[in-house]
Amino acid sequence: MAKKQFKAESKRLLELMINSIYTHKEIFLRELISNASDAMDKLYFKSMTENIGLSRGDFEIFIEADGESRTLTITDNGIGMTKDELEANLGVIAKSGTNEFRKQVGDGVPDVPSEEDEMSVIGQFGVGFYSAFMVANKVEVRSKFYGSDEAFLWTSSGADGYTIEACEKENHGSEIKLYIKENPASDDENHEDYEEFLLEYKVRSIVKKYSDYIRYPIKMESLQRKKKEDSEEFEEVKEIQTLNSMVPIWKKNKSELKDENYNELYKSKFHDFVDPIAHIHSKTEGTATYNALIFIPKKPPYDFYTKEYEKGLQLYTNGVMIMEKCGDLLPDYFSFARGLVDSEDLSLNISREMLQHDRQLKIIAKSIERSIKNELKKMLSNEREKYEEFWKEFGAQIKFGIYNTYGQAKDGLQDLLMFYSSSEEKNTTLEEYVVRMKEDQKSIYFASGESITRINALPQVEAVKDKGFEILYLTDNVDEFCLQMLVEYNEKNFMSVQSADLDLETEDEKAEIKQKNTDNKQLFELMREALADKVQDVRFSQKLKTLPVCVSGAGALSVEMEKILSQMPGDKKAKADKILEINANHAICDKLQFLYDNDKEMLKTYAEILYSQAMLIEGINLENPAEFVGQIAELMTR
Ligand code: ADP
Ligand code: MG
Repeated sequence: MAKKQFKAESKRLLELMINSIYTHKEIFLRELISNASDAMDKLYFKSMTENIGLSRGDFEIFIEADGESRTLTITDNGIGMTKDELEANLGVIAKSGTNEFRKQVGDGVPDVPSEEDEMSVIGQFGVGFYSAFMVANKVEVRSKFYGSDEAFLWTSSGADGYTIEACEKENHGSEIKLYIKENPASDDENHEDYEEFLLEYKVRSIVKKYSDYIRYPIKMESLQRKKKEDSEEFEEVKEIQTLNSMVPIWKKNKSELKDENYNELYKSKFHDFVDPIAHIHSKTEGTATYNALIFIPKKPPYDFYTKEYEKGLQLYTNGVMIMEKCGDLLPDYFSFARGLVDSEDLSLNISREMLQHDRQLKIIAKSIERSIKNELKKMLSNEREKYEEFWKEFGAQIKFGIYNTYGQAKDGLQDLLMFYSSSEEKNTTLEEYVVRMKEDQKSIYFASGESITRINALPQVEAVKDKGFEILYLTDNVDEFCLQMLVEYNEKNFMSVQSADLDLETEDEKAEIKQKNTDNKQLFELMREALADKVQDVRFSQKLKTLPVCVSGAGALSVEMEKILSQMPGDKKAKADKILEINANHAICDKLQFLYDNDKEMLKTYAEILYSQAMLIEGINLENPAEFVGQIAELMTR
C-alpha cells in the first residue's frame, strides 16, 4: 500500500512531537480523551437534533493498557470518521489552532524559529492528536463513521507518512492504539519514562488530573485485591471502574474546589501553558439561570492582536456545548477573557443569528460583564501587584474600550485606568490622583509623549511640576483619545500641560504677558506669516524656563494626537491647531527684535528654525530635516 506523505507543516509538527522537548508528555492522554469527548458530543448533538434516540448514558470512553503488546488504546463510541475525514483530519494539521501553527512556524524550515519558540507556540494552540507521537512510535486509528458500514484503519509511525486501508470494526466510533516507546537505557534518574503510561495507577492519575470533568464516563479495567467470600484469603479480581467524576467543575460548589482545579481546567480547555491570573466562578439563578466560569489569562494569546482573534465564551446548555465561541457574551474591551457559560434556558438548536437577539443571553452577558469588572476592581484594591501585571498586558484594551464606545462604557471602566504619575513615580488611578489634588487645583494635568523620559524633558512639564502639581504621563497611543472620551473624572476636567489653554499664571503675570504680546504684535505677525501653514499664532509665554520655545495645541486635537494619527494609514491627516510660544525671558527675544528692525528676511528664517526646534522637543519628525540642518549650518558658518 502506498504511503502518503504528511503536509509539510504537519510533518514539522510531528517531528517536533517525536523529538519532543516538551516536559508534560502526559498531556497526550488529555488530548485524545478530549477528541473522544468531542466526537461523542457531535453524535449526541446529532441524536438530539435528529431524534436518533441515543441518550447520554449510551456513550463512554474506554482505556485499555496492555503491558505485553506495550499498547495503550483509547476507544470511544462517538461519531467516528469516514475515510475522507481520516485523511483530512489526521493527514494535515486540520483543526483549531493547529492550522495557525503553520503561519507562525513557517512550512518546515528547520532552524527558524528556535525549537523552544516552536514548543511555546504549540502550547498556545493545544497540541492535539499529534501529541500521541510524544509517547508512541506507532499509532493506529480504527474508525467507523456513525451510520456507515465501512471502517478504516489509519496507521503512522511518524514523520515518514501514513497509510489508510479498510478494516473490520463492529461499532461506530474510533479506537486509537498507541505503541508506547521503550524507555531509553539510562541510569539517569531524570530519564524519560514512557512505560509508566502502561500502568493503571498512572493512567488513572492523569485522567483525574486533566479530564475529570469530561461528561462521559472514562472507564478502565482495574485489578482489585479482594477477600474471597467466606475466607481470609485474597484474590485478584478484574473490575471495570469509571475514573472520572463527570461533574463539570462549573457545576460543583465553590467550596469543593481549589485554585488548582480551576487552573487545570483552564489550561486543558483553553490551551494555555500558564495559570490564569484570576478566575470567576458564578452561579446565578433568577432572571437568567446559568453557571459561568471566566478566566483572565496572564498573557494574551499569540494571535490576540491580529484580525484572526475571535473573542467569545464557550456556550453550553445543560452540559452540551452548543457554541465554541459566543462573541455576544463579551464586550470588546474584555475580549481577553476566556471561559464558558452553561445555561438551562437556551435551546440546543439556537443559531448564531437567533442568539444575537436572545433576551436571556443579553442578560447573561450583562451580568458577566459586571462580574469581570468587579473581579478587576477587587484585584486592584487587594492585589495591586497582580493588577499591575494585568494592566501591563491588557490595559490598552480597557482604554480602547472607553474610546471605542465614545465614553458610553466609562462608568465601570474609568476606575480601572492607571497612568504613570509624576509625583508617585509609579502607576496611579484617577481616584488616587483626585485624592491628592491640591486645594487650588482645577484640573487633572496630563502630558503625552513616547516615554516617561521624553515627557520629563518637556519644558511645560517642568513648569507645572514647579507649581507643585502632579502630572499623569500618557505614553500609550490610545491614552489621550481615551481621556478625551472621559471628558472629566469626578467633576474634574483633564488639562494637557501641552495645551495653549493651560493657565497657571497669576493675574499679574497674565497682565504682564498680555502687555508684552501687544508690544510685539507686528513682530509676531511677521513670524506668523512665515509659518502661515504651520501655526495659528505666535506669542510670548511664561511656561518656559530655560528653553527658547515650545509648541502648544489650541484645539480639541492635540499636537500629540496629530502625531499618532500621522502614523496611521491613509493620506488625509487631521492637523492640530498649534501655537508657537516664545520664552519672554530668553535672550532670543532681543535677537528677534533686532532682526525685526534690521533684517526681516532673516527673521522669517529664525521663525522657521524656532518652529522646527519646538517640534523636535515634542518628538515630532520634521517634514524637511535637510532644510532645518541647512538653516542651522548657515548660522554656524556666518
Ligand atoms: P482538534 O481537536 O483541536 O480539532 P486534533 O489534532 O486533536 O485537533 O484532532 C484533529 C481532528 O481529528 C479533530 O478535529 C477531529 O475531527 C478528528 N478526530 C480526532 N480524534 C477523533 C476521534 N476520536 N473521533 C472522531 N474524530 C476525531
Ligand atoms: Mg483535539
